[in-house]
Amino acid sequence: MAPDISGLHHVTAIAGDPQRNADFYVGTLGLRFVKKTVNHDDTGTYHFYFGDGEGTPGTNITFFPWTNQGRDGHFGAGQTQDTAYLIPEDSVEYWTERLDSHGVTIERTERFDETVLQFEDPDGIGLELVAADAETDAVPWADSPVPEDKQLRGFYSVTLAVPSVKPTAELLTEVFGYEHEATEGNRHRYRSAAGGFGSVIDLVETDDEYGQMGVGTVHHVAFRAEGVEVLEVFRDEYLERGLRPSEVIDRVYFHALYAREPNGILFEISTMEPGFTVDESVDELGSSLALPEWVEDERETIERQLPDFDGPTIPEGE
Ligand code: ZN
Repeated sequence: MAPDISGLHHVTAIAGDPQRNADFYVGTLGLRFVKKTVNHDDTGTYHFYFGDGEGTPGTNITFFPWTNQGRDGHFGAGQTQDTAYLIPEDSVEYWTERLDSHGVTIERTERFDETVLQFEDPDGIGLELVAADAETDAVPWADSPVPEDKQLRGFYSVTLAVPSVKPTAELLTEVFGYEHEATEGNRHRYRSAAGGFGSVIDLVETDDEYGQMGVGTVHHVAFRAEGVEVLEVFRDEYLERGLRPSEVIDRVYFHALYAREPNGILFEISTMEPGFTVDESVDELGSSLALPEWVEDERETIERQLPDFDGPTIPEGE
């Protein structure tokens, strides 16, 4: 048996313009630019990581900015609908005003007795801030434009849109160690029994057509695991269930195992170690282009081919 999953590790999505993407996540949401690297499977594309003050697993939303025209995706079934960050319970007014002053349109709702601010990033990716008294391992970032007591505190949940709840729910409960907690309308809430931060998965049953992966959609959702050996255990469990896992892959900052869950959403399971300080100190995180050692001798070519990007901008006076 695989050990229980404690929560989310990271969420990876497809952005358009890299500058606009970084300006939003750092300048508006106040996350730290934790790592500037390239997509290991396509070194002509950046891979950005935004997270807490130390890039703690469970706080990082990551992006492949696709700058070529005509690669827009569209949201639909078999995709991640929303990625939710936890905010302090007393910061709803702060975030409402901050997002409004940055030109972001918000919808405020109540869900399972918690206040949720819903909005989209500049590429149309669904985001939420959930005001809750929930566990967090997030480390504040002193240089954020957002005061430390208002900062995002790591993931709260992801909402997955699925044609049928049952097969995804079975994977979560039978393999990952999640439990059904509550249902509100067509939203079914599952929570990790191990109960770390980012431990909530909401499954929303939808009649929508399948989505198309591309700019403005989430590429995959990653869960935390303790060690490489654990990934091999999950790999065996996937195979037993007829899923088609990847091999365990070295992603420099973690090891990763990929498989599409039964409704087609790409799940990754990633190790906590070695983390983002493997090639930069905490102080230096995100300050230079980090490349995996196996392409280091192609650095000049890679840097020349990457799109223009000056690093995230923090608005003046913040
Ligand atoms: Zn990933």
